[in-house]
Amino acid sequence: MAVPTGSTFFIWEFLLCVWTGGRPGFFYAQGRVRKFAARAARAPRGKQGYNLPCLIAQGRVRKFAVKAARAPHGEQGEIFPARFIVNSACTPGFAGHGKGWFIMEITGVIDEVRKQVKEWRRQGLTVGLVPTMGYLHEGHKSLIDRAVADNDRVVVSDFVNPIQFGVGEDLATYPRDIEADKKLCQQAGAHLIFHPEPCEMYAPDFSTYVEMQKVSEGLCGKTRPTHFKGVCTVVCKLFHIVMPDRAYFGQKDAQQLAVIRRMVRDLDMDIQIIGCPIIREEDGLAKSSRNTYLNTEERKAALVLSKAVFCGEDMMRKGERDAETILSAMRKLIEAEPLARIDYVEMVDADSIEPLTKAQGRVLTAMAVYIGSTRLIDNFIMEV
Ligand code: AMP
Repeated sequence: MAVPTGSTFFIWEFLLCVWTGGRPGFFYAQGRVRKFAARAARAPRGKQGYNLPCLIAQGRVRKFAVKAARAPHGEQGEIFPARFIVNSACTPGFAGHGKGWFIMEITGVIDEVRKQVKEWRRQGLTVGLVPTMGYLHEGHKSLIDRAVADNDRVVVSDFVNPIQFGVGEDLATYPRDIEADKKLCQQAGAHLIFHPEPCEMYAPDFSTYVEMQKVSEGLCGKTRPTHFKGVCTVVCKLFHIVMPDRAYFGQKDAQQLAVIRRMVRDLDMDIQIIGCPIIREEDGLAKSSRNTYLNTEERKAALVLSKAVFCGEDMMRKGERDAETILSAMRKLIEAEPLARIDYVEMVDADSIEPLTKAQGRVLTAMAVYIGSTRLIDNFIMEV
């Protein structure tokens, strides 16, 4: 895209200033262009520093580039004048991960996502999708980081999907904070957030669902019999809306990952599914949006899940292969915590979710445990 000049330039500048509330410094706040800023700062006045010709040629921004280059990683170097950002934002193909400048967009409209993705495709760019229910934390960020590393453009869907919640579950109270989510996505380098209202996803007479047998029936499927029907349906819809090359899911929801892989295989979806490791708090608790439900007492009690995971992992590493021996040691540990109530602790094949009596192949040992009224999940996968 050509850099706007003359009156177009000033219209852009005005619009960007309005859009960013007059503080378009967030590009540099992300710290991802520090090395470009450093080179720009070193370039002779009036000359191109590094891939930012329109900026540096004007010579106006050297002092900002100097400050940006010196700013600690991830921190804002300077509040930039809109003009700077206008230039950089309108010259895709320049810096930022070496993958082009961008302004992160947010939309709740399916057609707008389609239009944007088609434009990226026209430019020959690859697209990654990270489906989430929002209230983003480091676990989600690890997925976005991986997607940003693997793809030219990354879409994060941020949607509390009503149809994956059963009657009496926490749909109404599920935590939401779109402003914090926007910040995290921006910092992680996502390009587009898809944040629809339920009515955009589900027409009043919506009547088509993706249902799966077997893989979705064990583990969480026993207690939440309609959950994976809702998950498969929404993920299938998201795949059709975004048409990504790759989609990213956490091993935190190991059964969900197995279900999605099976759906993609069975329905011949041309999408690579990437599983990402579990991100934990320092004390071991798996990060989860639902951890916010826990009071101080419960937060302490919740550590029994990761303790049981580490105990099972340790036993298997030391050579124990009998499922019941491992599972009963894990159950005993959880049952010792008065605030904990086991939903299930099981050992299954990680792909088929078929129960195992002996640890063999790719083994998933998974659990769901109520801490007070909050249902938490955790697991480990080991290849034996
Ligand atoms: P959610 O918003 O809970 O539906 O999660 C969206 C995606 O983030 C799913 O693929 C989850 O498995 C993944 N995720 C959630 N928590 C974690 C975590 N602690 N570590 C890694 N991935 C996670």
